[in-house]
Amino acid sequence: MKAINITYCSCNKYFFQNQWKSYTTMKDLVSKKIREQIPKAQLKFEDFNFPDQPKEKVENEVSAAAKDKEHKVKVILKLAKCNLCEKEGTEYFEATLQIRSANFDILEESIEYLQVRVANLRHRGMFINNVKRQPEGFDLYMSNKRIAQSLGRELQEKYGGVFKASPRLQTRNHQTSKNVYRMNILVKLPDFVKGDIILTDDGNVLRVDKLGKKIKLYDLDKGTNIVIDYEKLKYHILKKHSTYVSKVQPGLEVINPFDYQSSMVKNNPERRPDLGAEVQVVVHKGIYILS
Ligand SMILES: [Zn+2]
Repeated sequence: MKAINITYCSCNKYFFQNQWKSYTTMKDLVSKKIREQIPKAQLKFEDFNFPDQPKEKVENEVSAAAKDKEHKVKVILKLAKCNLCEKEGTEYFEATLQIRSANFDILEESIEYLQVRVANLRHRGMFINNVKRQPEGFDLYMSNKRIAQSLGRELQEKYGGVFKASPRLQTRNHQTSKNVYRMNILVKLPDFVKGDIILTDDGNVLRVDKLGKKIKLYDLDKGTNIVIDYEKLKYHILKKHSTYVSKVQPGLEVINPFDYQSSMVKNNPERRPDLGAEVQVVVHKGIYILS
């Protein structure tokens, strides 16, 4: 029985017929290789070891019991770097993901979210080779343009905003006569989050109910829902204030946070608060109570 040689990369790929191919687990891969020589062998993996360093080799022995006898199969593992992992830590990139937001907290949260996602996609060849700080955001230089694009969409789904992807011609591959493109992906996140109250340029006071490709808003005056593209929205965020309910009969009144007078509220809250309850309000040509 011949020894089995496997050159593999820590991203779950092994070198086979001049190509890097994926495998699920090393045990599955070794079992498959042994059964190519001894079909239906019963395998025992005792003391199975892996190399620690790239280029290091480790020799293992796997016992394979067949009908006639028990074979000892030599399995030699060699750790290497696949064609993609070898580009990690270099200048290499396929896509730039540009994340922008005027709100630094949203920016920071979205970057943290991305870092976790990218770490989980490492086995699919995704990594970030460079990060550049920009006036209102970050540019991330990523190794996989297809995954970079879907991560951009994911951010838009989670935080709302604008998503744009455009290819940029990088070089022409003369062997295949094909053009090689890099992707430029822009995700412009809003500076508001769910629950914020915005004032649009045409004077509507709206609560942000749902973020995503489309933004779902609730009109506090009319009590109606609106769905809009973020790009079409001209707005600014209204500051929330804490105050107290000063009257519930005949109409609802709260203490105006600016002049401390008891004032009627303009909207009809979904839940009516009790007298003296602490509530959140926004002020724009009158007071709106938030429930
Ligand atoms: Zn690899």
